[in-house]
Amino acid sequence: MKNKDNLDSKKEKKVNKIKEQLARLRAKLASENKHPSFPPKSKFKKTKDKPKQPKKEEIKVKAKEAKKKEAKIKIIKNRKAKEAKKKEAKIKAIEKRKAKEAKKKEDIKRKEEEKRKEEEAKKKEEEAKRTYEEELEEQLSEEEITGFQLEKTDMDKMCNRVCEIIADYESDGILQSQLWKKFKLSSRDGSRLALKLERMGMITREKILEKERWTYKLIIKKIPISTKSIEGSPCLTCPGESKCSLDGLEYNPKTCQWIQDWVMIELKNK
Ligand code: SF4
Repeated sequence: MKNKDNLDSKKEKKVNKIKEQLARLRAKLASENKHPSFPPKSKFKKTKDKPKQPKKEEIKVKAKEAKKKEAKIKIIKNRKAKEAKKKEAKIKAIEKRKAKEAKKKEDIKRKEEEKRKEEEAKKKEEEAKRTYEEELEEQLSEEEITGFQLEKTDMDKMCNRVCEIIADYESDGILQSQLWKKFKLSSRDGSRLALKLERMGMITREKILEKERWTYKLIIKKIPISTKSIEGSPCLTCPGESKCSLDGLEYNPKTCQWIQDWVMIELKNK
């Protein structure tokens, strides 16, 4: 009970103290209102000028424009990239075409070179095959070939004799070098004689490779008439020889008795 009384008196004291403090503050305020040390504050507070906020529409338009600009830049960039790509492709195509053309030119050049080499090789081969007679044929005229004459030699007899020997070898023929040895002829004279006989239609010449050298084999074409065969013929001493012909009435080989007798004697002797 005693404690309760103590608490109440304490509370009362505290309240009184607060009341005193309030009274003092009121007095102070009253004196300040009578003698103000500071000018009275304006009733309205000054408001700072805030930056004007763009309107929503304006922001929208600007964003739209920026977007448009960006899209435009993007299109330009794309176009430029496309153009660059196109240019690059064009350059590549030109380079490719040039490379192709260069290759084509190179191929043509290579082929021409190969052809030239081939032709040269062929020419060399042909030249190696070339005979002395072929060179002679080029150097001499036809008159020089057919009119070939050996000094102090009866060429008709010589030709007949050569053909007779060639005829002995029949279709096998004889090497011209062997023949020239028999007649002691130089290869130049022998070759010219062979050409003459060929032009006369008496022999044929066959080009052959003998001991790695090109030469000719001579083969008879037309057997010459041996003078022996007409030795003793009645025609040689016939008084009517100049008048004798196939149409003749008095002298005619078809009906000539002298010829018939001579042929019979010749056949009996054989
Ligand atoms: S064929 Fe008789 S006729 Fe005539 S030339 Fe000879 S031999 Fe004489």
